[in-house]
Amino acid sequence: MPTLPFGPLPPYQPRRFVPSSADLGSWPEIAPLFDALAARSAQCATTADLERWLVDWSELSAVLDEESTRRYITMTCHTDDAEAEAAYLHFVEQLDPQAKPRQFDLARRFVAHPLRPHLPAERYRVFDRDTRIQVEIFRPENVALETEDAKLSQQYQKLTGSLTVQFRDQERTLIQMGLYLEEPDRALRQEAWELVANRRLREAPAFEDIFGRLVQLRGQMARQAGFVDYRDYMFRKMGRHDYSPADCETFHAAVEAEVMPALRALQAERRRRLSVDVLRPWDLATDPQGRPPLRPFSHVDQMVAGTQSIFDALDPDLASGFRRMQELHLLDLANRKGKAPGGYQSNLSEARLAFIFMNAVGQQRDVETILHEAGHAFHALASRGEDLFAYRNPPIEFCEVASMSMELLGNEWLEPFYAFPEAQRARRAHLENILTILAWIATVDAFQHWVYTHPNHTRTDRAGAWVALLQRFGGDVDWTGYEPARAYLWHRQLHIFTHPFYYIEYGIAQLGALQVWANARRDRPGALRNYKAALALGGSRPLPELFAAAGCAFDFSRKTIAPLVRLLLDELTSLPVN
Ligand SMILES: [Zn+2]
Repeated sequence: MPTLPFGPLPPYQPRRFVPSSADLGSWPEIAPLFDALAARSAQCATTADLERWLVDWSELSAVLDEESTRRYITMTCHTDDAEAEAAYLHFVEQLDPQAKPRQFDLARRFVAHPLRPHLPAERYRVFDRDTRIQVEIFRPENVALETEDAKLSQQYQKLTGSLTVQFRDQERTLIQMGLYLEEPDRALRQEAWELVANRRLREAPAFEDIFGRLVQLRGQMARQAGFVDYRDYMFRKMGRHDYSPADCETFHAAVEAEVMPALRALQAERRRRLSVDVLRPWDLATDPQGRPPLRPFSHVDQMVAGTQSIFDALDPDLASGFRRMQELHLLDLANRKGKAPGGYQSNLSEARLAFIFMNAVGQQRDVETILHEAGHAFHALASRGEDLFAYRNPPIEFCEVASMSMELLGNEWLEPFYAFPEAQRARRAHLENILTILAWIATVDAFQHWVYTHPNHTRTDRAGAWVALLQRFGGDVDWTGYEPARAYLWHRQLHIFTHPFYYIEYGIAQLGALQVWANARRDRPGALRNYKAALALGGSRPLPELFAAAGCAFDFSRKTIAPLVRLLLDELTSLPVN
């Protein structure tokens, strides 16, 4: 059995409720713990008893969550290992379906508890609201469908992770091929891009099959829970109390009105600098002056050391958090065959620590990813003292403020990786990329709104809807001759398959992060103080309050976006081009 990248972790505190000898892969050992909590809920005679009960329940949830995460980490670090896959699937197929109804049973007991209204109202406001919703939308008949959903998601990951191409007599992962899109030689970029596009297109029927089944399953779950469609169901399930589908449409429109003109202007500038008539899909990642790609590091150890220097310069608390993660080996960062694609940060809920997974190959984008994931890890570390498991899992819209702020702030200290001109070039590319990403977020989010509100669509309709969105948000890129690659471009977006609707959060959060960055330009220590204070709240407050604590407005209309786009453009104008 392959091992985890890290060894035994220092416990945050000794377990109080779950026996330390419990086999967490064995339901017969877990079931009595749920029985005990169920029985004890009726015996709570005071609010103090009930709060104690909540903390014990939190401990059980954290222990199970960490076990699942450990198996997930092992699998994603070894996608070609059957035993690691079996261990994760065992948890997903055998433990989760048993534990979920029992979690629901405890939530129902809490919601019905006579002492619940007497708990300190502000302390439990968010927990109470979220637990009531969980009870309201839970359907036992959906548990099997959720299991099926998780398995299909895992098939998507396995398929994506297995794709390679032969390029210059070597087998290369698609992530490794991304390097060639930064090359100055246009013919080389085109060749690399076509190889990858064609490799993905060969799997298009498989991706379409997986997604078709997911859409069906998800629609069925929504109907079984009494919702018109999966979008309404997910907005309720994801606890989106503070914004609606209509607000997302406001965001799409604001991006179209404010971001697209700026993006088109940057694309026109790129076209001029590249001296080409039209931008092709392989012209978007290369340096417009034809300089070779930035190479911030050649070995992952250098990336870690450089990142440490950035945090040393930025803030002592953040610096010590990142140092601790290195000491505990909570980083698996190098790309290699057999690793799942992408990067993620996972909470190790019982140890109250965080793990970072990446596929670093030596690009500037890797530096941005480590800054990003470290921001998530800081969030986990900042909220360690919180005893309610639910409050150690803040809403994604704010989690991404934690991570994206680190990209923006960290990118102002890139000297460990570059001489000054290269550092400026990297910053410029990052800021331009934010505009590109806002447009991509609008595309991916609007696509999912379309998919799940048109449940009976055909594959052709779906491709048509996607292409129409690229016309709104794709800018001036010429796809002539590559129409199928364009129609299936979304196959590469993991979230559409594995985390439905989890994408607008990035847009909302980017607006928060840009505000943190704007604040830091006026008062860096003050902005960082607010940032850390907001992170320490975990998920204990509603979204608008978390944003306010970080010094940001929770609004994603043109009113908020326009000045941020202006600030980005001002900054881009002041950064030297050469
Ligand atoms: Zn993130």
